[in-house]
Amino acid sequence: MNSGIPFLNIPATPDGAGVSEVTPAEGLRAVLDNLDALVYVSDFETHELLYMNAYGRRIWGSIDGKKCWEVLQNNASPCDFCTNHLLIDSEGSPSAPHIWEFQNRLDKRWYQCRDQAIPWLDGRLVRLEIATDITERKEMELALKEAHEKARAAALQDDLTGLHNRRAFFELGNQLLKQSRRNGSPLAIIMFDLDHFKQINDNHGHEAGDEVLRHIGRVLETNVREADIAARIGGEEFAILLADADAIQASEMAERLLSLMRKTPVRYQDVCIRPTASFGISALRPEEINLENLLARADNAMYESKALGRGRVRTKP
Ligand code: GH3
Ligand code: MG
Ligand code: MG
Repeated sequence: MNSGIPFLNIPATPDGAGVSEVTPAEGLRAVLDNLDALVYVSDFETHELLYMNAYGRRIWGSIDGKKCWEVLQNNASPCDFCTNHLLIDSEGSPSAPHIWEFQNRLDKRWYQCRDQAIPWLDGRLVRLEIATDITERKEMELALKEAHEKARAAALQDDLTGLHNRRAFFELGNQLLKQSRRNGSPLAIIMFDLDHFKQINDNHGHEAGDEVLRHIGRVLETNVREADIAARIGGEEFAILLADADAIQASEMAERLLSLMRKTPVRYQDVCIRPTASFGISALRPEEINLENLLARADNAMYESKALGRGRVRTKP
């Protein structure tokens, strides 16, 4: 078989030849062809494949007269991720090997590649790549990463309503606060607590209460802008941070939500429940650098709404 490399093109050892007659070149070929890794050499300028070991030929086929990007990637031109330029220094001399991981577009398997510029038999510099299949390890890593991301998303989500939970509210809220301070844009908050929610549980059962909470979640999902942060921050307590909005806009939004609650009853089995809520509004002051005081003022305003008879909106700018 043609290895593609002149000094390795030695006739096969005649039958019955002893081990002692194996030449160094034959030994080297045996080593390269039995490696559990791809080894290939290509010309730096033309990308012509000069050598590929048996591991590579088994997967990618013959190399005769072909370019590395044709054989290995089935490309029509040099790969946009070619690392050749990383293998030589500014004077054109070989630099340290470049080691990287990537997914082959043809066989979809992951490889750790060790690329290096080496002098070839005729003195020119060529590219030597040794690529080890790391698919199993990579798939495990990716599955683990996905599991971590899912767990993190789950840790930030309120199971019942699908809204952000309290922790997410503070994490994302602090980011939004920093952003609005940086941009000099206003930031307002709406807090609300469902009225006489205990009675809903007591009269219709805990499941009915849960359905009311889910309903409120849907109302918020469909009425809050993408840039806003809506969260269930307690049992029957919700908060919305409104990006680029002042107290007046937040108050208008709260009135709209309250009116929606009154207009859209929650059906649970054969009962119809019309929840209301007491709202508190506040807006970020120029000197404030965290959510604490903003939240405290909105909370205060919310308790004023409760004290004044519930089902209303109060503002503490
Ligand atoms: P107020 O108008 O003063 O807010 O009265 P309230 O009844 O809403 O307030 P209270 O704090 O007395 O009761 C809140 C109730 O909310 C008590 C609690 O069992 C219920 N609750 C909290 N979390 C959940 C939940 O996840 N599901 C259900 N169904 N009920 C919940
Ligand atoms: Mg309540
Ligand atoms: Mg409450």
